[in-house]
Amino acid sequence: MAKKSPEHEHPQKAFGWAARDTSGALSPFDFSRSDWSESFDCACVSSAISGAVHLHCVSMNALCVLVFSIFAIGGLNVWLIVSDVDNASCQLVEVLKFFVFRLDDFVVSVSIFEVDWKTKIVVVEQRLWENNVDDVTIKIQYCGVCHSDLHSVKNEWGITMYPIVPGYGFHLLVLSHEIVGVVTKVGNNVKKFKVGDRVGVGVMVGSCEKCENCKQDLENYCRKMILTYNAIDHDGTLTYGGYSDMVVVKEHYVLRIPDNLPLDASAPLLCAGITVYSPMQYYGMTEPGKHLGVVGLGGLGHVAVKLGKAFGLKVTVISTSPSKEKEAIDKLGADSFLISTNMDQMKTASYTLDYIIDTVSAVHSLAPLIGLLKLNGKLVTVGLPNKPLELPIFPLILGRKMVGGSDIGGIKETQEMLEFCAKHNITADIELIKMDYINTAMERLSKSDVHYRFVIDIANSFSPSGSSL
Ligand SMILES: [Zn+2]
Ligand SMILES: [Zn+2]
Repeated sequence: MAKKSPEHEHPQKAFGWAARDTSGALSPFDFSRSDWSESFDCACVSSAISGAVHLHCVSMNALCVLVFSIFAIGGLNVWLIVSDVDNASCQLVEVLKFFVFRLDDFVVSVSIFEVDWKTKIVVVEQRLWENNVDDVTIKIQYCGVCHSDLHSVKNEWGITMYPIVPGYGFHLLVLSHEIVGVVTKVGNNVKKFKVGDRVGVGVMVGSCEKCENCKQDLENYCRKMILTYNAIDHDGTLTYGGYSDMVVVKEHYVLRIPDNLPLDASAPLLCAGITVYSPMQYYGMTEPGKHLGVVGLGGLGHVAVKLGKAFGLKVTVISTSPSKEKEAIDKLGADSFLISTNMDQMKTASYTLDYIIDTVSAVHSLAPLIGLLKLNGKLVTVGLPNKPLELPIFPLILGRKMVGGSDIGGIKETQEMLEFCAKHNITADIELIKMDYINTAMERLSKSDVHYRFVIDIANSFSPSGSSL
C-alpha cells in the first residue's frame, strides 16, 4: 500500500507547525490526525466499492463473520464495512486476520477491507485503531516547549526521523509532549473522560500494555513505548506532537488536569514535572528535613526546587549562573545557592547534601557534584547529554554513594504527580508565547534564555478554520 502524505494519512484534518528538515526552522503545515468511528463516512466508501458485495455491520459479531466468510469462500468479491469498532469487533477482525494471514501471507489491521478470496486481502482506507473507541479527541489549548524539542529539531541525539517514513518525499516533525487542552470527543469505551474535561498528554501515547513493565504501571520503560512525537505508531505512521490544533490519544495515556491548576502553567508538569518527581519518589529523595541539591535551574530544575520544598526538604540550587541566585531563593523558595564554577563555594559545601537531581543536558563533570554528597548520598541524572559523562568511582566507593538515572514516569505516577502539584499549588513558571514566535523561542532556549519554560498559547494562535492567526 502506497504511503500517504501526512495530510491524507488520517481522516481528520489538523493544522500545526512543523519542522521539515534539520535546519530546525518551524513553519505552518497541514496534516491529519486519526479519528474515531462517529466521523466515519460509510456512504463515501460504499460508492468507492460498487460492483462488490457489501456487508455492512455496526459492530462485528459471529453471524457477520460467518456470512462474510461464506461469501468470500464462495469466490465473491466482498467488502466488510464495520462502522463502530468495539473491542469484540477488534477481536473478530483479529480472527479473520489470522485466517487470511495463513492463506496469503498478508497482514491487515483494518476496519474496512476488501476480500478477493482467491488472491489476497487488500487494505483500504481506515485502519482499525483509527476508529478506536478508546480514543479521546482533545482540542489543544497550550503546549510546553521542552528542551527535548530543541534536541529533536536539531537532531542532536541523531534519532530524529528525516524523512519521517520512507516514501513521503518530504519532512515533517510536529513537536511537543507537554500538551493540555479540553476534550471534544470520546470513543464509546472511554470511561475516565467526558467532553469538556481539562486534560493533558505527556511524553508517551502508547505502549505494549502487556509486558512486565507495563503491568507495573511503568509504561515509560516499556520497550515498545510510543513517544508522543517523532515515533512510529502502531500502524506505521509517525506520531505528531502538540504544536497543532488537536490531537487524538488513547484514553489510557490521557491525564486529568486538576481543577485548581491553570492549564497553561500545568503543561510543563507533563514532562518537566514528572521527570523530576518520579526519581524523587523512586530513589527515596523525599524524607523531610534532608538536603537536596538541584543542578541546573531551567525547566526541570525550577520544578524540582518547588517539589523539594513541598516534600519538606532543604534545597540548594547548583548553577553556573550567579544571576539566578536571587530568583532561586526569593521566587522559587530555595534555601541556598552554589555557583558550580566557584571552587571555594563547592569545597565548603562538600559532604552536605543527601540527594542531588542533576538536570543539566550539556556535557559536564560529575566529580564535583559527587563531592557534595554525604555518606550514602544519591545523585540522579535526568538531563540527556549527547556524549557520555565521566564517572569517578573512588568517591562512590569511599562514600557508599550512588549515581542513578530516570526517564519520565508511568501514567499512574504522572497523575499522582499532578494531584500532588494541585495539593501544593505547584505549577511551572512560564513565558506564554504565540505559535509564530516559536523559532525565536527555540533560539532563546538554546541559550537558556527563558524563565523557565516557554508555553505556546495554541488556542489563540490558530483560527478555527485552521490557519495561523
Ligand atoms: Zn520533555
Ligand atoms: Zn510494555
